[in-house]
Amino acid sequence: MRRREETRKVQVGRIQIGGSGRPLVQSMCSIKTSRKEEVLAELLRTKALGADLMRLSVLDEEDARAFSFLARESGLPLVADIHFDHRLALLALESGASAVRINPGNIGGALCAKEVVDSARRHHAAIRIGANSGSIPKELEERSPKVRAEALLSSIAPYVSLLESLDFRDIVLSLKGSDVRETVEAYRLAAERYPYPLHLGITEAGPLETSLVRSAAGLSPLLLDGIGDTIRISLTEPPEEEIKAANRLLHDLGLLPDFPTFISCPTCGRTEVDLLPLARKVRDTLEERRIPLTVAVMGCAVNGPGEARHADLALCGGKGRWALYKKGEHVLSFPEEEAYDRLLEAIDSLLASER
Ligand code: SF4
Repeated sequence: MRRREETRKVQVGRIQIGGSGRPLVQSMCSIKTSRKEEVLAELLRTKALGADLMRLSVLDEEDARAFSFLARESGLPLVADIHFDHRLALLALESGASAVRINPGNIGGALCAKEVVDSARRHHAAIRIGANSGSIPKELEERSPKVRAEALLSSIAPYVSLLESLDFRDIVLSLKGSDVRETVEAYRLAAERYPYPLHLGITEAGPLETSLVRSAAGLSPLLLDGIGDTIRISLTEPPEEEIKAANRLLHDLGLLPDFPTFISCPTCGRTEVDLLPLARKVRDTLEERRIPLTVAVMGCAVNGPGEARHADLALCGGKGRWALYKKGEHVLSFPEEEAYDRLLEAIDSLLASER
């Protein structure tokens, strides 16, 4: 099995996928690509939150042509997602897409694929071959995850061979099942059989809480085994939420060190402050500014200081007041309404002292 450090390096715009210890983060825009200004604003928001590359769907020529504006203005490597009409892949590549994602089942025959390969080669772009559980034959749907994983891999095999026969190897593979065990098996098989970088994701994931759990369940064992060169946490939410979730997962698995660690307690009968809104606000600020500190917001001063003693900064609640701790030591206390500003001051001063 190849670990991510050993996969082939594939150039996608200004970044390289594969051959690196850090998995890259991507998401997909939620607005029709031809609505250029809105899409650009969404791209820039995801970029600020840490997106390494973004995928955009291409439904018509207007979408494909929008790539020239969006790639130039966003500075992000963009992947064109193409179904059914390979001519849209050609137009998107012509317009500045750094990669195209094609579904082997519906892109047309070998001749169409060859035209896409020729164009990708000419434009120094990559091709992602993506299969999902829809690519599995109906009669295998009730079989074990292992059998379905084999079928998922078999669905891309002829296309990988076709690209290799054309001496094209700037390939990224994705095998997104909707079932966790099927997806994990499929990626493990792919890491054994192919040298190409793998894009991980669980598709058809569901609303926020459902999909977060399912994606973490599916991606964590793979990421911890060293499998996965790019990831997407698919959520029925805006792409900004996907980027945040992907960063949190990578950080919690030790794969993104330069990122905040945020801790808050589950609250209990001892809590006498309004913890949840403050916890969310602090976490969002830390992540938006990518502040690489450990910060805790705890409900009480009975267990809070002990549980957060490893934090750089911790707020522990009292009766309508908060106490601030720095590296486990009590610094000062203040009324509830001052908590956010006081914590931010402490964060800025700690960052300044560590520079
Ligand atoms: S830190 Fe305090 S308020 Fe929070 S769960 Fe623990 S005991 Fe309860």
